[in-house]
Amino acid sequence: MPDPVNKETASLVRLLLLPLLIASAAAVALYFAISSYLLNDATEKIQNVLLSHRGFHQYLQKMMLPTYFKARDEGNIVGDFYTPEVLSSSFIIRNMHELYNQERKKEGLPEIYYKMASNNPRNPVNQADEFEASLITMFNERRDITEFRKVITIDGQKYLYYAKPFLTTSKACIRCHGRRTDAPPGLQALYPGEGGFNEKEGIIRAIESLRMPIQNQYQTAYIVTGSLATGILAMIALVLFNNRMRNLVRARTADLSLEVEERTAREKELEVKNAELERFTYTVSHDLKSPLITIKGFAGALQKDIATGRHDRLASDLTRITDAADKMTSLLNDLLELSRVGRMINPPVRVAMGDIVADALTRLAGVLKEHTVTVTVASDLPTVTADQPRLVEVMQNLIENAVKYRGEQQAVRIDVGCRSDNGETIFFVRDNGIGIDSRYHENIFGLFNKLDTQSEGTGIGLALVRRIIELHGGRIWVESAGVGQGSTFCFTLPGRLATVM
Ligand code: ADP
Repeated sequence: MPDPVNKETASLVRLLLLPLLIASAAAVALYFAISSYLLNDATEKIQNVLLSHRGFHQYLQKMMLPTYFKARDEGNIVGDFYTPEVLSSSFIIRNMHELYNQERKKEGLPEIYYKMASNNPRNPVNQADEFEASLITMFNERRDITEFRKVITIDGQKYLYYAKPFLTTSKACIRCHGRRTDAPPGLQALYPGEGGFNEKEGIIRAIESLRMPIQNQYQTAYIVTGSLATGILAMIALVLFNNRMRNLVRARTADLSLEVEERTAREKELEVKNAELERFTYTVSHDLKSPLITIKGFAGALQKDIATGRHDRLASDLTRITDAADKMTSLLNDLLELSRVGRMINPPVRVAMGDIVADALTRLAGVLKEHTVTVTVASDLPTVTADQPRLVEVMQNLIENAVKYRGEQQAVRIDVGCRSDNGETIFFVRDNGIGIDSRYHENIFGLFNKLDTQSEGTGIGLALVRRIIELHGGRIWVESAGVGQGSTFCFTLPGRLATVM
């Protein structure tokens, strides 16, 4: 048998596990969705900064420098003037970005790290490290790739690293980045080494990269995910809890309605029993009264006969008094028996019905001998589960009645047997006696009900028999074609004894 405590724990675990699993799956999905959204948002911001720098590079390359060289070629600018503050876009952007970070700082915003990285820089600050060099190679080999994005961790803080290839080296670039000797003399004088020279047209010679802290974004993702997952968990748990409560209430309601039904049935049963008891009390007092009246009447007659000297009548007066007292004794005995049947019962045993019948016949040997009675007992009587002494009483009563109500029959025949009806075994005691009118087939099982008031007996026997059969969970009834046609008393024994009160 499953332990109810374990069952309860298992169902509780199931109740908690399911929402936990769903909430975890939802949390993972949510986390990815939220962090990817925040990452895209951060990328867009960082991209904007880089594109604005790129715009300035373009302005310098396409507008400022051509204007400058044109002015110089036309003699408007005298000499070989060159200064990176005015003519180098990478120098200008790097410094402009520093100023930009200062502005950000003033606004309380985190700084964004910027670097123009090249394998061949003029200024060593722009020297590409190993990783940046690998990116330059990749962008040169794969022209379809236009950006690189990665979340990196520095000192436990998360950053979004974003890089784009710098402008492809054009013919205009070669003016300052080609052979050293072709470059403006001012530039040559400023940068004595080979750095930044000897570049080739069509080559991506540098990358621009930005690094932005995104720890806050991740924290936001954690908080939002955590809150949503907790919300989902709470909601699922609530739904499940609600369902469970509903089921509990439903089960309890069903239990209660069953209880109410049972109680109503019991109340009805009790009402019937009370009415029966009332009838019983009335009948008992009425039937006990009649021998008492007889005794009282004949005691008076006895006194009178003594007083008047009618001694010849004394014996008959006394006989009437004794008969009435005997009648009362047998009434009280039968009543006692009936009350005993209602109250106590012997433990049920497996017993052969043939043995029960044989026992009853032994007890009735005297009666059977007195009259010419042929009793036939079927050989196929089954074994039953019953209160043995009580069942002997049943058989004894039925066989005795068969003899008692033989009428004018000289050759009394009694058959004890069984038949099967719809899978149910029906036992019977059949006689060829006076028979019973169908109007009284039910009535005869009532207490003190006798069809012939002059007949011997108290009218309690069949009531007793019915009580015993009902205590065994069975039914009893009589079948008779009518007066003079004999009677067959039938009963069933389902084998379960009713609870004894
Ligand atoms: P009692 O036999 O003491 O009168 P019972 O309760 O045994 O009381 O029977 C009730 C009545 O049923 C009897 O008085 C009788 O009229 C009728 N009865 C019982 N058994 C038979 C039978 N085998 N044949 C005809 N009538 C019967």
